[in-house]
Amino acid sequence: MYAEIISIGTELLMGEIVDTNAAYLAARLPGLGIELRWVSQVGDDMDKLSEVIQRALSRSDLTLTTGGLGPTSDDLTRECIARVLREEIRVDDRLLEDIKTYFRGRGGAMSSYNIKQAAIIPSAQAIINPRGTAPGWWVEKAGHTIVAMPGPPGEMERMWQDEVSPRLRHLIKGVVIVTRTLKTIGLSEAAVNEMIAPLFESTNPYLGIYARSDGIHLRAIAKAPTNAEALALIAPVEEHILRVLGPSIWGVDNETPEEQVGVLLKKRGLTLATMESFTGGLVASAITEVQGSSDYFRGTIVAYSNDLKVTFGVPAELIEKYGAVSPQVAEAMAEAACHQLRADVGVGTTGVAGPSELEKKPVGTGFIGIAYNGQTRSISGRYPPQRPLVRRRAASHALVELLQMLRGTGQP
Ligand code: AMP
Ligand code: MG
Repeated sequence: MYAEIISIGTELLMGEIVDTNAAYLAARLPGLGIELRWVSQVGDDMDKLSEVIQRALSRSDLTLTTGGLGPTSDDLTRECIARVLREEIRVDDRLLEDIKTYFRGRGGAMSSYNIKQAAIIPSAQAIINPRGTAPGWWVEKAGHTIVAMPGPPGEMERMWQDEVSPRLRHLIKGVVIVTRTLKTIGLSEAAVNEMIAPLFESTNPYLGIYARSDGIHLRAIAKAPTNAEALALIAPVEEHILRVLGPSIWGVDNETPEEQVGVLLKKRGLTLATMESFTGGLVASAITEVQGSSDYFRGTIVAYSNDLKVTFGVPAELIEKYGAVSPQVAEAMAEAACHQLRADVGVGTTGVAGPSELEKKPVGTGFIGIAYNGQTRSISGRYPPQRPLVRRRAASHALVELLQMLRGTGQP
């Protein structure tokens, strides 16, 4: 089954909001055995939206739309589907009653604008929306399925989970799509590509390569009649990748370095503290996103200025001799984090976020120090020289290096 997503709303075209709905849906279609072929964004315009829906009908089996189901006059999805399918759109008394009940439950009065949200066409079934007023539409006509969902991500996601995904699962039998992601660190995209070049020739599983803030990811996508057969297609590819890239692989699928670091620290009963300069607390922020991190995370010192680094235990002579952006200072920061915050493991970060160079070191230079068990080491990084990227990449890098160190596979 070939699918297409249409994200509707002029605010998308203005760059005011990012199309997270399409990303959410795209991530969930493979698991249902549905192959996504196109994603479009279109404004709140009757003719343009009709054109995009018409084209989707001609080339896809399943069309998922989000947005344009609101009560205001610029919300046109229902009217456009009706127009393309040449069906009459009429207010349904039962749906109208549901919307009135929704408003009564909230102690508010229904505006006359909401009436159009109860309109429907003969080939559509309404999909309940527990989080809002706009019901979705499930339309089946001439071998094609259109599912129209509301734009607000909270409403769309709930409708997807409760209603749309189970119905699609029911509809599609006989094919599953299984994916496997392997995440590497310390290698460039080109290097990874070269090391496993022959694997890219296969179409099933299909192997993709992506650069992310936590390294280069490889994703195998296999299509087969059953889960077991799809896994069997992926197994030799995964083995090949592990054989060639083994030590550089730090995680799989949805694993994040901060979660994995937490798992290992907990298992060994160790505590962690950080002292951050150019990452400004991003490492600590990621660590504390993990539930239960209070079990092992002591805290962080954001020592942005040199005098604060010294106040919190970095020897002034080191900064004078090597500069604040140096492996020596990164290591001293990691040790200071351990001592000042009484932790078993310490991480320090120092670097040049930009926009201009510092101590004659170019933007994107960074050093990560890790102190543990009486040993301190540092790792250097070169990040894309744009301030937001430098900071984010460096924070991810620090977490992955910490993970590799805890696993005993880090750089010496
Ligand atoms: P609508 O259903 O068109 O009234 O959408 C209402 C609101 O949902 C918009 O103003 C956005 O805040 C949000 N929204 C709509 N489409 C998307 C999308 N594709 N991704 C993320 N948010 C969206
Ligand atoms: Mg809208």
